[in-house]
Amino acid sequence: MYCKKCGKMVEDGSAFCPYCGADLRGQEEVNEAIEVAEATPANEDNGPWKVFALLGFILGIVSLAGSLFFIGLTTGVPGIVFSILGKKSSNPDKQAKAAKGLKLSIWGLVISIVVYTALFVVVTILAMNGTLSEEALKFFEFIGIDIEVNR
Ligand SMILES: [Zn+2]
Repeated sequence: MYCKKCGKMVEDGSAFCPYCGADLRGQEEVNEAIEVAEATPANEDNGPWKVFALLGFILGIVSLAGSLFFIGLTTGVPGIVFSILGKKSSNPDKQAKAAKGLKLSIWGLVISIVVYTALFVVVTILAMNGTLSEEALKFFEFIGIDIEVNR
């Protein structure tokens, strides 16, 4: 190790510097802590958070892209959860990705709910008027819109 005061090379574990007499007790632990900190830069994220950030981002894209087909109803919630978890990442890039994933997931979920509700209303009105065929009703029942019609 090197003396913290004069910078000369001294034997590892020395209590005092043989050149300038500086007290070196405790310096070894400090050096080790610095080495550990240097080995894992702040940008390196060793936790599962970076995976969550990526998952949240992907689910966010799927949610928004699929929101017109209600896909966001199923992917939006996990997208939000993973994005929030991904924000714990110490990597700024992954944090930004998670933040984007959160926005996309929320939009995907909201648009899906709006589209689904609107379609539900339209189908209900059409069914009440008797304008929907049996096949159409079966299709809507298949995607989760189940309407009882009195014919
Ligand atoms: Zn010294």
